[in-house]
Amino acid sequence: MVYLTEEIFLIESKSQTSYTRGIGAPNTIFMKGDSDTLVIDPGVWTYQYKKLKKLSRKKIIDIPSVKKVGLTHHHWDHSNLSAFFQKKNNAEVYAHELAKASLEDKKKVFEYFFYGYEILQKEMMNYPLTGAKLVLYFMWGKFENVLVNHTLTEGKKLDFDIPIEIIELPSHTPCCIGFYFPKDKILATGDLMDLETGVGMDMNNPLSDYDNALKSAKKLLTYDIDILIPGHGQIVEGKNNIHKLISDRIKNSEEIRKNIVDLLETKEYSLRKLIENLFGTRSTINYLLNKHLIYCYLINIYKKEGIELREKRRKTFMKMN
Ligand SMILES: [Zn+2]
Repeated sequence: MVYLTEEIFLIESKSQTSYTRGIGAPNTIFMKGDSDTLVIDPGVWTYQYKKLKKLSRKKIIDIPSVKKVGLTHHHWDHSNLSAFFQKKNNAEVYAHELAKASLEDKKKVFEYFFYGYEILQKEMMNYPLTGAKLVLYFMWGKFENVLVNHTLTEGKKLDFDIPIEIIELPSHTPCCIGFYFPKDKILATGDLMDLETGVGMDMNNPLSDYDNALKSAKKLLTYDIDILIPGHGQIVEGKNNIHKLISDRIKNSEEIRKNIVDLLETKEYSLRKLIENLFGTRSTINYLLNKHLIYCYLINIYKKEGIELREKRRKTFMKMN
């Protein structure tokens, strides 16, 4: 656990190594107010819940005081424990208005992870869905519906003792928001900045959007930030370091997009060959994450510059139009 100020502390994210890299538990932020505690991204049963029990036994966290839950987006690894606080403490849940429908229907969260590809459907969906569901269950614990009591949008102030500003950061999903604490210049970015995986902005599911991610990352550069809490991975301190981190990620993302266009201009590629060319061959989960990352660039290029798709021997081959 890390104390950022007297009132704000973290259960640090759990990184996964090797084949499960990329499906660890997120950073969980606690803010102690005068009468109750707010938790942002309460996390999962398999990690945060165990930590919470331990911290509560040591009297570091008072579980019954957690009466408010804020969510950076709808994904299970961030939102699973909301149901625990909601049932146990009658906690109120705050999330972006676009997250409400999926949080309240766990089937939707699952669908949004795996469906909605406009191109390359065969290549994107070539693994057994039950298997994927089981892996997520094993990594994160049970999935439950969460009732969203309050929806948030840009600039909205949360009703809490410590001032909090909501920043819309559509990117990884359209419902992504950042929580900014102006008093201490702390920003929780959610998965726009995932420092556990990725080289650019974190785009790893069919709802991720390259243009939005780029815009949102650039928007972060306009904020005065002393401590950046990413969705996953270690916190970053110091204005200059934070500025460099965000600028590097923007640059990396723009470079990846350019590299894809350059490759597709020279010859035809299958999705697998394209990924191998850009990232080399890696473990299964990494390959899956890279596949999604590349898909997000491809759909953007497909819609803007145009990509020619050709089916050959049950595979899709791509080149620039
Ligand atoms: Zn996520």
